[in-house]
Amino acid sequence: MKFANRYAEIKINDMAKVFQAIEKIDGVLNLSIGEPDFNTEPDIIDAGAEAAKKGFTHYPPLQGFPDFREALCSYWQRHHGLKASPDEVIIAVGGIQVPHLALQALLNPGDEVILIEPYFTPYADQVEMSGGVPVRVATSEENGFSPTASELERVITPRTRGIFVNSPNNPSGRVMPRVQMEEIAELVIKHDMFLLSDEIYEALVYKGKHVPFATLPGVRDRVLTMGGMSKSHCMTGWRLGYGIGPVDLVRRMTAISASQTYGVNAPAQKASTYALNTQDAKLAERRKIFAERMEYVTKRLNAMKGVSCASPEGAFYLFPNVKGTGLGSEDFVWKLLEKAKVAVLPGNAFGKSGEGHIRIACTQSLEVLKRAMDKMEEFLK
Ligand code: PLP
Repeated sequence: MKFANRYAEIKINDMAKVFQAIEKIDGVLNLSIGEPDFNTEPDIIDAGAEAAKKGFTHYPPLQGFPDFREALCSYWQRHHGLKASPDEVIIAVGGIQVPHLALQALLNPGDEVILIEPYFTPYADQVEMSGGVPVRVATSEENGFSPTASELERVITPRTRGIFVNSPNNPSGRVMPRVQMEEIAELVIKHDMFLLSDEIYEALVYKGKHVPFATLPGVRDRVLTMGGMSKSHCMTGWRLGYGIGPVDLVRRMTAISASQTYGVNAPAQKASTYALNTQDAKLAERRKIFAERMEYVTKRLNAMKGVSCASPEGAFYLFPNVKGTGLGSEDFVWKLLEKAKVAVLPGNAFGKSGEGHIRIACTQSLEVLKRAMDKMEEFLK
């Protein structure tokens, strides 16, 4: 069989390599997975099942059910002060489909899109799949993995069309300070760019409050806010994501989706509508649980020789620096898996700036995290 030239180089990414290795080893303490360990709440499942029984088993509206889009607008206004109307919302197959649709609507061949390292790995592939060129900007731990305006401005060319920002961040767990957001907003306006703001971890901010990029002055018509039900409502398997942005962009994304997915699972949309309208107390409860876990793991890591870890800010990730152990990211990860049966991800799987770090997902119970930290401590001795 002959395959397309454009995917000649395609291979499994570094994250997936670890996931595949774990499958072959018994008894692994798995801190590599970026999904909540909590199951979807039973009443949300019931709402989905009820909807299916009531006949929501047909093709849904392309852009998403109006009541779901209403519920999203109400959720974002209630929690984060972002005012939007349902015609500015598009429902997608997981948060991951949102940038796919947006980039296809926005990019011409050769257009450049800035990615801030370390970044969620699929962004780079998605830019390339849409004919664009990813331009990576290195960051450092000292700056909280946020770039300065001059670091960003240095890579802007006449071909630059847009930038991805992800706060709270996967993998670093950092929340971008408002001053840096404002600097980026100014650049976006000055250079006539779009901004894809991945805010899928909006419900998991431990210090202060989440600030949607779209609420900063002057950028609203350039920002697509990307989110989803996976992390906030523990609904990864339902594959429900969404974008909130300018109507022109949303309309084009909707038209493109007609040839891709033709709408999103109807009962899952109904379950999500129920979830958005009823689960605020649960969000706060889980945020507290994640915060406790992250505080615990941070304390344990900082007591280990050669390891240092910043205090938790957002998402459920810690991104400790392991340079003092003398091991590179990948060496650390593979040796830890082999010797201690603890799985984490190498920081450089998220771009070169992640080298010397590992990503720990606090998506296990305190009891499992304790055992994993005991084993890591033992491994480092
Ligand atoms: N964006 C970020 C930063 C993520 O970490 C993830 C999942 O890990 C996604 C988007 C996609 O999530 P989903 O497609 O499950 O909504």
